[in-house]
Amino acid sequence: MFDRMRRAVLAGLIGVSLAAAMAVAPAAAQEKKLAVVATTGMIADAVRQVGGERVEVRALMGPGVDPHVYRQTRSDIAAMARADAVFWHGLYLEAQLEEFFHDLAKRKPVVALAESLPKDRLLPNDDYQNRYDPHVWMNPRLWRGVVAAARDALIGLDPDGRAVFEANAERHFTEIDALADYADKALATVPEASRVLITAHDAFNYFGRAYGFEVLGIQGISTESEAGLRQIEDLVGVLVDRKIGAIFIESSVSDRNVKALIEGAAAKGHKVTIGGELFSDAMGAPGTYEGTYIGMIDHNATVIARALGGEAPEKGLNGRLGS
Ligand code: ZN
Repeated sequence: MFDRMRRAVLAGLIGVSLAAAMAVAPAAAQEKKLAVVATTGMIADAVRQVGGERVEVRALMGPGVDPHVYRQTRSDIAAMARADAVFWHGLYLEAQLEEFFHDLAKRKPVVALAESLPKDRLLPNDDYQNRYDPHVWMNPRLWRGVVAAARDALIGLDPDGRAVFEANAERHFTEIDALADYADKALATVPEASRVLITAHDAFNYFGRAYGFEVLGIQGISTESEAGLRQIEDLVGVLVDRKIGAIFIESSVSDRNVKALIEGAAAKGHKVTIGGELFSDAMGAPGTYEGTYIGMIDHNATVIARALGGEAPEKGLNGRLGS
C-alpha cells in the first residue's frame, strides 16, 4: 500500500518535471547568452558595449564603490561560480580581490583587461613600487585598448559571435575617438596657467598626462598635524599664485580639507569655488548617461574645462549631461 502510494507520488513528480522540461524546451533550444561577471562599472560597460545581445553582464561594484578596498560578498561569489567568465581590471586596482581571482582562474576564464595594455603607456604607481597606476580609463585613447581586450576575450569565449563583437567594438571605438577629440578640444581652452587639477585622490594622473594638467591630490591631509597644515598652505599658495578658480570633489573627499583650501585662498584675497564633483573610480547611476563610460568621461572633461575658465557646452559632447 505504502509502496504503491510512493510510486504514484514519484510518478506524479516525474510527470511534473517532464512537463516542466518540455515547457522550457523551446527556450533551451535557443542560444544561451554568455554570462559574464565584471568588477567595476567601467569594465562592465566595456563588456556590454562589445558583447551586445550575446552577453549578460553583472557588475560587482556600483556607483560610489571604491575598487581599491572592495572585497567580494557571498552573492558575488555565487554569481562568479555560475558565470562563464569573470572580467576584471587588474593592475592592482582590485587589490583585495587579486588572490581570489588568481585562485578562481584555475577553474574558469578570468581576464584582467587592463593588463593587456603596453607597459610603456602606463604610469608608475605612487603608492606601490614596481606596480603601475591602474586609473587608465581617465584617458580615452588608453581605454580603447581595454575595449579591444574585451573584444578579443569575448571572441575566445564565443567564437560564433566574432562578427558581432568586432562590429560592436568598431562602433564603440568611434564613440571613444569622438570623446577623446572632444576632451582634447574642450581642455585645450583652459588657460595654460590654470591647468591644475586639485582633487581628492590620485586617480587623475593619466588625465593630467593626456591633457597637460598638473594634478595635485588632497587626500589624507590632516589639518590637525603641522605637516598637514603646511601642505594646505602650499596648496593655497598654488591656488593664489596661479589664479586657479576651482577645486574638485569626489564623494570620498573630506569637506574640511576643501573648506580649508577655499578659506585659505579667501584670506589671501583669492576666490576659489568647488568646480563640481568628478567621477574617479566609479561611474554614475545605472540607466543614466553618466552611468556609462562615455558619459562619465564626458562629464569630467566638461566640468573641468568649464570650472577652470575654458569653454565646453554645458550638456557636454552629446548634449546628454545631467539629463
Ligand atoms: Zn583610485
